[in-house]
Amino acid sequence: MHGSKLSFKERANAALADSTLKLAIDRTTGNAERKRAQAVSAFPEFEAARGRGRAIKDHVIANLDHYLEMFERNAVASGAKVHWASDDAEARAIVTRICLDANAKMVTRAKSMLGEEIGLPHALADAGIERVETDLAEHIIQLAGDPPSHIVWPAMHRTREQVAELFKAGHNPPPAADDPATMVQSARRQLRTKFLTADIGISGSNFLVADTGATCTVTNEGNAELTTTLPRIHIVTAGIEKLVPSTAHAFALLRLLVRSATGGELTQYTTFHCGPKRAGDADGPEEMHIVLVDNGRTRMLADEFREMLRCIRCGACMNHCVVFRQIGGHAYGGTYPGPMGAVLTPVLSGLAGSRDLAHACTMNGRCAEVCPVEIPLPTLLRAWRVRSWRERFEPGTVVAGIAMWAQVARRPALYRLASSIGVRALRIFGRGGWISSIPLAGGWTNYRDLPRPSGRTFMEQYRAKRAKENRS
Ligand code: SF4
Repeated sequence: MHGSKLSFKERANAALADSTLKLAIDRTTGNAERKRAQAVSAFPEFEAARGRGRAIKDHVIANLDHYLEMFERNAVASGAKVHWASDDAEARAIVTRICLDANAKMVTRAKSMLGEEIGLPHALADAGIERVETDLAEHIIQLAGDPPSHIVWPAMHRTREQVAELFKAGHNPPPAADDPATMVQSARRQLRTKFLTADIGISGSNFLVADTGATCTVTNEGNAELTTTLPRIHIVTAGIEKLVPSTAHAFALLRLLVRSATGGELTQYTTFHCGPKRAGDADGPEEMHIVLVDNGRTRMLADEFREMLRCIRCGACMNHCVVFRQIGGHAYGGTYPGPMGAVLTPVLSGLAGSRDLAHACTMNGRCAEVCPVEIPLPTLLRAWRVRSWRERFEPGTVVAGIAMWAQVARRPALYRLASSIGVRALRIFGRGGWISSIPLAGGWTNYRDLPRPSGRTFMEQYRAKRAKENRS
């Protein structure tokens, strides 16, 4: 996981002040929103497919032990070695041990958020192993030294102009021009020798197919295929919630995943990896290792965040989130940004350092409307707010304010008096119909103006209406 010593509010404020970042976010999320809407309107069965996707994931989650054992049995039968990691530290240790035992000097990696979640980039660096990111966007952020800011477009915070500068400085020779086609060709040239000389390829997995023991990757660049096929050893790291019963179930979810993520019907490459190279195969790795990672997932099974295990990592919730679209992914401070990240980060790194994430939600419900597996994200965020309150993570000022409000709210006469004083006080702060500053409420008024109360209060109107009715 990446993190930052700054608070969520400090990171969000810095992002809000960065107009280049806003431009980059608008370009990508605006496109994603448009393309998803087109893909969904061209797929009349989308709602039925969502229901099926949800049912598949719910079935697997309810029978996780059964499908995990089935997957392990079939993966081992196909020649793969299966490793179990209860947490991120164990997962890192397993992967680095495999690399060190193989005397690996350089590994290629196909994009994997699970790899980020378990802190694999740092672990490889600490073990003295060169890591080469092969996804184009990951290649960009590796050159920039940035963590990913989106689960589908990890370099979305970088504009094309910034990428041109990075390639000029980081490629040898630098690209001849800064149009996208020339820059992509330049990245291909840089990466090609790495693909051919890597000792080990590391990938994630979009689906783990229980009845065949296969792992499935979906990409648009073909980099996962080169990463997983050319080196002598292939390591897959995957969360245990990635299981599906069969290949048909994987395709049922793929129909949702691709449309929700990029607005396409299918990715350019959908590859099922079923064990290492067999006698007679022209290519493929000699060894295949699959590291199944828990890292808090079985804990989620037993609590109110269980539905989050349905997530297929499409990114639609963040593309449609009004908060994410203002502040981008880095402000969230964890591996996973946006609404799904605001639910997952407290699971992965504790509520104490991430309570602000649930409070940053406006509860407009857009994320739940677009989620292809119907995860009720606002409900889960509200559950974190409740926990934060119960576990006493809320600041003293908030606790005191709500306690005071509760005292007043229990006494109707006092409540009416307090609201009538409050309304009159708000009128004093208003200029030209708007209130742009209220003492002790700068957190609100620094970024938005409130309409100045005008006319009578609701209770005054209600009483007047009742009096009129009684007279007539
Ligand atoms: S929570 Fe839903 S919309 Fe968000 S990434 Fe997961 S599956 Fe996609």
